[in-house]
Amino acid sequence: MYLLPHGVVLAIRLVNHEINKLRKKRLLIALDGHSSSGKSTLAKDLSTVLEITHVDSGAMYRAVTLYLHEHNINLDDDLACQKVLNEIEISFEIIDGVSITFMNEIAVEDKIRSMKVSELVSKVSTISCVRKFLVDEQRKLAESGGVIMDGRDIGTVVFPHADVKLYVTASLDIRTERRYTELIEKGMNISKSEVRDNLLMRDNIDSNRTDSPLRKADDAYHLDTSDLDRGEMLAKSIQIIYNHINR
Ligand code: C5P
Repeated sequence: MYLLPHGVVLAIRLVNHEINKLRKKRLLIALDGHSSSGKSTLAKDLSTVLEITHVDSGAMYRAVTLYLHEHNINLDDDLACQKVLNEIEISFEIIDGVSITFMNEIAVEDKIRSMKVSELVSKVSTISCVRKFLVDEQRKLAESGGVIMDGRDIGTVVFPHADVKLYVTASLDIRTERRYTELIEKGMNISKSEVRDNLLMRDNIDSNRTDSPLRKADDAYHLDTSDLDRGEMLAKSIQIIYNHINR
């Protein structure tokens, strides 16, 4: 039995030395799925248990979106977007146990979660030069292994040779509820239907874009989190990872 931050109890059949065995492997784990499917929470918890770094690739797309928006770059002008990409430096820092996104050395965690950025980010993520720029950055971040990265194309494009791939889904109702609660807790004034519409809009663009659409990699394990709480989601994933590594 493990007690994780936020009071999450991990009830798992694996014993300490089996978890230690996984930790020593410094695994590269690809975790993909729709918005609010539970993947970011799961990625954070897996990174805690397996003692590896969590990289939220969505935060990187959000940071680029914020930069383009703040600099009034026309999102339909690929060349204009391409020109400014080398002005953007994205990094992450753990502050009080929480990963904070920095853009050009300024903390932008709150700004990148705003509704404005959520509205624009899927459009920005269809721009091929943005994807190429971020995929290169993502690969650099994982050069020495020991990383769990969550996103939309991690198992299919960024790390096709990841040690383990997970593909997480949940029903639209559950995802709306999760995202709504998260935003309300952050003090945002928003209705459930706005949240639902934004999720649907992003699902649609993310799954249908030409460059790197969201899809399950053939060798990814599918995990439906609709009826799972945080501890169950984590326990199931660890078991999948353990079985996969020892298959
Ligand atoms: O994960 P999150 O919902 O914060 O991601 C924001 C957006 O960034 C997604 O809706 C998607 O358009 C884009 N994204 C992407 N590829 C990734 C991660 C995120 O296109 N690997």
